[in-house]
Amino acid sequence: MRLTVIGTGYLGAVHAACMADIGHDVLGVDTDTRKIEALAAGRAPFFEPGLPEILARNIRNGRLRFTTSLAEAADFADLHFVCVGTPQRADSLAADLCHVEAVVDGLAPLLTRDSLVVGKSTVPVGTARALSRRMAARLRPGVDSEVAWNPEFLREGFAVQDTLTPDRLVVGVTSPEADRMLRDVYAPMLRAGVPYVSTDPATAELVKVAANSFLATKISFINAMAEVCDASGADVVTLADALGHDTRIGRRFLSAGLGFGGGCLPKDIRAFLARAEELQVGEAVSFLHEIDRINQRQRRRTVDLAFQLLGGTLAGRRIAVLGATFKPDSDDVRDSPALAVTEQLVDLGADLRVHDPEGLDNARVALTGPVYCADVMEACKDADLVLHLTEWSQYRALDPVALSEVVRAPRMLDARNVLDQAAWRGAGWQLRALGRPAHVPPPGQGDALRVTIPQSVAPAACAAPAPGDPLSGAPK
Ligand code: NAD
Repeated sequence: MRLTVIGTGYLGAVHAACMADIGHDVLGVDTDTRKIEALAAGRAPFFEPGLPEILARNIRNGRLRFTTSLAEAADFADLHFVCVGTPQRADSLAADLCHVEAVVDGLAPLLTRDSLVVGKSTVPVGTARALSRRMAARLRPGVDSEVAWNPEFLREGFAVQDTLTPDRLVVGVTSPEADRMLRDVYAPMLRAGVPYVSTDPATAELVKVAANSFLATKISFINAMAEVCDASGADVVTLADALGHDTRIGRRFLSAGLGFGGGCLPKDIRAFLARAEELQVGEAVSFLHEIDRINQRQRRRTVDLAFQLLGGTLAGRRIAVLGATFKPDSDDVRDSPALAVTEQLVDLGADLRVHDPEGLDNARVALTGPVYCADVMEACKDADLVLHLTEWSQYRALDPVALSEVVRAPRMLDARNVLDQAAWRGAGWQLRALGRPAHVPPPGQGDALRVTIPQSVAPAACAAPAPGDPLSGAPK
């Protein structure tokens, strides 16, 4: 089939390359000339495992091309996927739909044949219907178009795998023809047995925001438990393991730590809150305010614990930060919890050295203040404290003995709760983590050691909205 993918960022570039890889003729479209030049030359404009290979392969075999021309897109195909951004509005919690609207406004008058426009961006429920009306008002006489929604569930770091072998496909359509076209697009996945849920556009739009709300709730739930663990001397990792054995609950997304970030979960739950208010069912999802607040609080708690570990002074103290991206295996720093913590510590006067395997270029643009280091040892040299903020596997594999030889003092705050506590403490490190006792108690004596996180330090500075805070609008 011939199809276009409009918006070639983290979602669209992968979707375009994967659609070509399963045999379609694909034209990727973006307004960002530099991105299109890179993609057309077979270079991925961001870090995503596996993307460079499928990009190169499908450009070479001629099934994948890129352009900045919407007119070329209108001429090329009758099926258009829309993958542009839907960020949080600067003045409210709601999603900014200006990019999806711009695509519809630009494309509609250029269409000369009946077409199917399929949104993949994450949008508030009701968007497809509104865009359909917007589209109809701009079409040439005699041309018809349907707007369908096919939300995307890919995870950065696994985006290629998630696109080629999704755990489900959800399509929201208003005609059997649209359903048939989408079944043809995804025929190889359907043959492989991927569940295909065909429904109305409103339900499809809601599946995505409901899924993200559920995941965010699970993460904030265990982080709330971590706060209770800190106040009571209990251990949140053992708690999560024990909860996870219950198959009704499951262990995934029950990892306590610094919380979630990125270009999706935080803004999606806020947009859901805003849309529910518009629909006058705000009360039904008002718990998401609390989920957001718990999540933001973990950033502050991490700063507090760093302050405590450094004995109450941050000014001039050297802190090494491991990780800048919002998650491992990505270069994405949008609303990164790691950068939010780094920024607060810079503001409190500490001397920050930040390492990240792939995210340094984006981090340098997002946050000035820290020194960015390409090498872990260089970042940790003479550090009074090391913060583990993004769980890249290379940090888990660090040798605590070797690292203890370059730091000024062997203090580690593992904000992702994944380092081997016994190994690090055995190598002489003072190791702390949110929701875990300061020392590992011998079996059966867990309540002998009670750990209390002190009141928040420097309330004025810490209370300032972090990048991506509900109150601060778009990430810095
Ligand atoms: P992104 O910022 O990486 O990409 C958006 C792209 O759209 C950019 O390249 C931008 O230049 C382009 N664009 C903007 N306006 C345009 C226009 N009028 N015409 C053509 N191109 C235009 O964002 P992303 O992370 O790819 O997210 C896109 C959407 O997908 C969002 O709604 C997001 O919530 C959703 N989503 C993202 C992921 C993810 O993991 N990143 C997963 C699922 C869903």
